[in-house]
Amino acid sequence: MAKVHVDKDLCIACGSCVAMCPEHFEFDDDNLAKAINENVDDDVRDAASACPTEAIKIEESEN
Ligand code: SF4
Repeated sequence: MAKVHVDKDLCIACGSCVAMCPEHFEFDDDNLAKAINENVDDDVRDAASACPTEAIKIEESEN
């Protein structure tokens, strides 16, 4: 099962992922995006593709 997280060193707080996928991403106290659940669906993959800095990391695993 794949998992998603945001690399905060890369996030520029553009808001794209939060707008596209609010059930998966929100801004934290630093105004940077964070994943609020790790589950990956097509919307998360679309948000990752749309992230301008490739800060959204999807980790694929076998199980
Ligand atoms: S789309 Fe990328 S750069 Fe924009 S807020 Fe989300 S993680 Fe940050």
